[in-house]
Amino acid sequence: MLMPPPYFVLPSPVEPLQHPVFEACGISVSVKRDDKIDAKVSGNKWRKLKWNLQNALDGKKEGILSFGGAYSNHLHALAFAGNYFGLKTIGLVRGHEADLNNPTLRGAVACGMVLHPLAREEYRQKNQPEFLQKWAGRYPNFAHVPEGGANALGARGCMEILAETPKAFDAVVCPVGTATTFAGLVAASKPGQTVYGVAALKGADYLQPGVENLVAQCLEGNAGEATFRAKLLTQFHFGGFGKVTRELVEFINEFYATTGLPLDPVYTAKAMWAVITLCEQGHWPRGTRVLFVHTGGLQGIAGMNEFLRGKKKPYQIETDSGFL
Ligand SMILES: *Cc1c(COP(=O)(O)O)cnc(C)c1O
Repeated sequence: MLMPPPYFVLPSPVEPLQHPVFEACGISVSVKRDDKIDAKVSGNKWRKLKWNLQNALDGKKEGILSFGGAYSNHLHALAFAGNYFGLKTIGLVRGHEADLNNPTLRGAVACGMVLHPLAREEYRQKNQPEFLQKWAGRYPNFAHVPEGGANALGARGCMEILAETPKAFDAVVCPVGTATTFAGLVAASKPGQTVYGVAALKGADYLQPGVENLVAQCLEGNAGEATFRAKLLTQFHFGGFGKVTRELVEFINEFYATTGLPLDPVYTAKAMWAVITLCEQGHWPRGTRVLFVHTGGLQGIAGMNEFLRGKKKPYQIETDSGFL
């Protein structure tokens, strides 16, 4: 059994969250603080990597080869975890040589990750057998992990988020990128619960079949009933993946001032916005117990602020993540 580094905060804490809107609606909200697991292997990235690391070690692999964008939380986390567990790591990055020079990927290289930039057209082939074979020829004894840790082993690790949260909840809410975390939570949910996945990207309906497929793999084929508990919300993307508006930034700042909970602009802020909106719309009956899964991503705040400054926007995210 793979032992996480001893300083990882596991099981991650569950904390009550007070907000005037929740009070007015008569619902209670708790937060599963996966953002507190570790600063580098943040949030759901540890959950998704855990069984992939175990699999590579069991298979006596030399290392892990994976994929990501230039600001990939996943590659950053993989580099650190691979280094810790004695696995070499290769990152195939969407972009050009110049795109590799940013804090996220410099951190990955510092942990020994070897990066290869790939032009967009080439990167798009990343799930094609010929493409994977080519890289398997170059790195023969490496396990391949998809972008974002989006496979059944990743989803299985995310089941542990609910497994280590014994208290009863009626609704579970998480942000969605590849929907691997969402699938793991759906697979681990119990009858009577609803799991809400809030898509951080536009037009996310295409993710639905993949979720059903992952849930089926987690539950060894018996997914039918669990998938009825899944609700993918696609209207809270704020213009698309990585897009923020002034309204969203002001929401992050106000929410932090009110509750003390820091939210990242790409994922968790959009998911929390959905919770507040559903609440205001009277979606949940009084007495509903909601669990919000904080999937981390707070190290992305500095990069987003730099981007906003570059665009001469008059607003900045003003939270203290505790790590920065
Ligand atoms: C990567 C990431 C996600 C997306 O998780 P998926 O399993 O790909 O849906 C959500 N939140 C944060 C903070 C992330 O870094």
